[in-house]
Amino acid sequence: MELERAAEMLRGANKIMLFTGAGVSTESGIPDFRGPEGVWTKVDPSEFTLQQFVASADTRRRSWAMRADSTVMEAKPNPAHLAIVRLWQAGRMIGCVTQNIDELHRQAGLPDEAIVELHGTALRAGCLDCDNEWPTAEIMTRVSGGDDDPHCECGGIIKALTISFGQPMPRHEMERASEMAARCDAALSVGSTLSVYPAAYIPLEAKERGVPYGIINVGHTDQDHLADFRIEGKAGVVLPALVEALSA
Ligand code: NAD
Ligand code: ZN
Repeated sequence: MELERAAEMLRGANKIMLFTGAGVSTESGIPDFRGPEGVWTKVDPSEFTLQQFVASADTRRRSWAMRADSTVMEAKPNPAHLAIVRLWQAGRMIGCVTQNIDELHRQAGLPDEAIVELHGTALRAGCLDCDNEWPTAEIMTRVSGGDDDPHCECGGIIKALTISFGQPMPRHEMERASEMAARCDAALSVGSTLSVYPAAYIPLEAKERGVPYGIINVGHTDQDHLADFRIEGKAGVVLPALVEALSA
C-alpha cells in the first residue's frame, strides 16, 4: 500500500524537508482557505490584500473583527504537529517550511532552527510605519474595547505580522527555505493545495534536484503529477503512521 511505499522511499533519508499548509491545522480547529469548509468559500480574497488593508479603514475593521472570531489564538497542536516533532527528534529532518501563521509547529515543540515561517505569524502585530511590535492579543483587547481601527502612537496603521496577498515575502525566511530545499534528501508536502506562490516553489526546488518527493493531503493538489508518492488522508492520521513506520 501507499504508506509502505512512502516509508520505503524515505527509509534512508535523514534530511527530510517538511512543507506544510493550512491542512495540518484543520484538526486543531483552524479552517483552511481552499478546503470544502475553507475561508475562501465565505469571503473574497481580493478584499484582503495589503493594498486594500492600507487604503480602507473598513477593510481593517472587518479584518480585526474576523481575527476576533478566529480560533488561531487558542488552537493547540494536533497529532500531525507532534509527529513532525518526533521525526525531528529522531534526527531525520532538515526542517519544516510552513505557510501557516498559527505557530503550532513551535507550540508542539519544534525548535526555531527547524521552523521557517514563510507567511509570518498571526500571534504578533506590528506598525506599518515604525518598528513597534505587540502580541496580537494586546491589540485584540484594544479592538474589543471599541478601538476598532487601532493605530500606533506614531500614527501608523497596525497589522498582524502575517504576509498578505500583495505583500513581499520575507527575504530571510525565503533564503532559509531555499537553503533547506537545496540540502534536503527528501521532501514531503502536507495539507496544502500547493497553489500559493512563491511558497509552493520551495518543494519544487527539492523535487527538481531529484530527491524523493511525497504529498499527503485530503483532496487534489497542484503538484500531484510531480509526486513520487501521494497519500490521500488526514495529516493527523497519516503523519503519525508514517513516522511510526519510519522508526520501525
Ligand atoms: P489551502 O487552504 O489552499 O489548502 C489546504 C489543503 O489541505 C486542502 O487541499 C484541504 O483539502 C487539505 N486538508 C484540509 N484538512 C486536512 C487534513 N486534516 N489533512 C490533510 N489535508 C487536509 O492551504 P495552503 O495551501 O496552506 O494555502 C493557504 C494559505 O493560507 C497559506 O499561504 C497560509 O498562509 C494561509 N492559511 C494559514 C492557516 C493557518 O495558519 N492554520 C489557515 C488558513 C490559511
Ligand atoms: Zn509606529
